[in-house]
Amino acid sequence: MTTVCELNKCAGCMACIDICPKDCIKIEDDIQYLNAKIDDNKCINCGQCHRVCQRNNPANVREPIAWYQGWADKIIRQNSSSGGISSAIEKAFICSGGVVASCKLIDGDYKFVLARSENELQGFAGSKYVKSNPLGIYKSVKKELQKGQKVLFLGLPCQVSSMKNCIGEELGENLYTIDLICHGTPSIKILRMALKEYGVNIDNCKEILFRHNTRFELDTDVKKVVPSRVGDFYTKAFLNGIDYTENCYSCHYAQGERVSDLTLGDSWGSDIHEEEKDGISLALVQSEKGKELLDMSEVILKNVDLEKAKIPNTQLRHPTTLRPEHDIFFNELNKGRGFKRSVFKCYPKWCFKQELKMKLIKMHLISPGGGKGYEIGVIEK
Ligand SMILES: Cc1cc2nc3c(=O)[nH]c(=O)nc-3n(C[C@H](O)[C@H](O)[C@H](O)COP(=O)(O)OP(=O)(O)OC[C@H]3O[C@@H](n4cnc5c(N)ncnc54)[C@H](O)[C@@H]3O)c2cc1C
Ligand code: SF4
Ligand code: SF4
Ligand code: SF4
Repeated sequence: MTTVCELNKCAGCMACIDICPKDCIKIEDDIQYLNAKIDDNKCINCGQCHRVCQRNNPANVREPIAWYQGWADKIIRQNSSSGGISSAIEKAFICSGGVVASCKLIDGDYKFVLARSENELQGFAGSKYVKSNPLGIYKSVKKELQKGQKVLFLGLPCQVSSMKNCIGEELGENLYTIDLICHGTPSIKILRMALKEYGVNIDNCKEILFRHNTRFELDTDVKKVVPSRVGDFYTKAFLNGIDYTENCYSCHYAQGERVSDLTLGDSWGSDIHEEEKDGISLALVQSEKGKELLDMSEVILKNVDLEKAKIPNTQLRHPTTLRPEHDIFFNELNKGRGFKRSVFKCYPKWCFKQELKMKLIKMHLISPGGGKGYEIGVIEK
């Protein structure tokens, strides 16, 4: 069997599967590596999968023409991960008659769907720190554009790139794109495994939170994963960048030139200290469409020094660096040690401390809420 892109470098964006006329591509997810495998017996060598693949053909990237930091109104901001600019734009786009495509939790997976009303935007808000699944969305967006509908696609940079490849320039006139600054994503199998070890079946979750405004903490509607301010192992592995699929460590989109009309991220190290605790978004505008999106959303925008903003946000300069703990983590995981034990092996002191805190809380010897947790921008070593 051949693969659509270079071996072990697939991002799981699913565009090749959506475009294949013979339905002969399957994604093989072995947690560390993704591969899009072609059934050579069914393939007619039309080349469509190779053409749309963002790894083979990254869509054009552009320097930002304007940059801001800002936030949406109080309610939107409370329910968002950073300043809430995404949700404010999504709402305004729907009100202007457009359709929004983004991802939400459906049956244990972060699937991309179209939202045509404000009500259908529910579930989009909030960063999902895991690989989302765009299967089917390329076809759906194309259909809407063919009907003359305006569509806003909001996703990770690799997904935006493949979307642009699938749509092409002519139909792209009505396509608006927002990408998130992205430092990498683990396979959904890691989230499933981690939650299971914390006693939660992902299939029963209606909501999973990865962040409470500026605090990073895994939580679900089924069960609180860890008491407040006790660090969970999923967040630890994610923030330290040790559990992403292999392709993310050589991501083409981790740079200052961006693939979308508008890039959103966190304004780490902002000088507006009084607003920092409620979340401040960084917005990089690459085109007139990007400007249009910001204008329609009526968010509060302030100036930001882009060069300063790039310093703490390494993703605007280079992909996440491979650390020795990455190899330790996957070696353990591949030996079947389980998620928590594999993280433990990487950070024994830190993990021991969290488990001890959990035990002491259970024995009512300390109350939940004590301790540090992950504050904005802090990656504990
Ligand atoms: C995996 C990941 C890594 C990130 N890394 C960084 C980083 O290194 N630096 C930085 O500045 N910002 C990073 N961000 C972006 C940050 O977390 C916020 O999403 C961003 O600041 C926008 O915040 P918001 O409040 O406007 O919107 P949010 O409330 O965060 O909503 C964001 C929108 O993005 C969509 N979305 C969320 N998760 C995913 C996903 N996994 N796949 C596709 N679409 C998704 C949602 O559906 C929603 O429409 C990352 C986000 C993700 C998902
Ligand atoms: S070359 Fe064409 S038929 Fe073959 S896998 Fe790719 S898209 Fe499918
Ligand atoms: S990166 Fe996307 S288009 Fe390329 S092989 Fe993987 S799933 Fe297919
Ligand atoms: S790091 Fe790059 S390849 Fe990985 S999920 Fe983010 S945008 Fe996609």
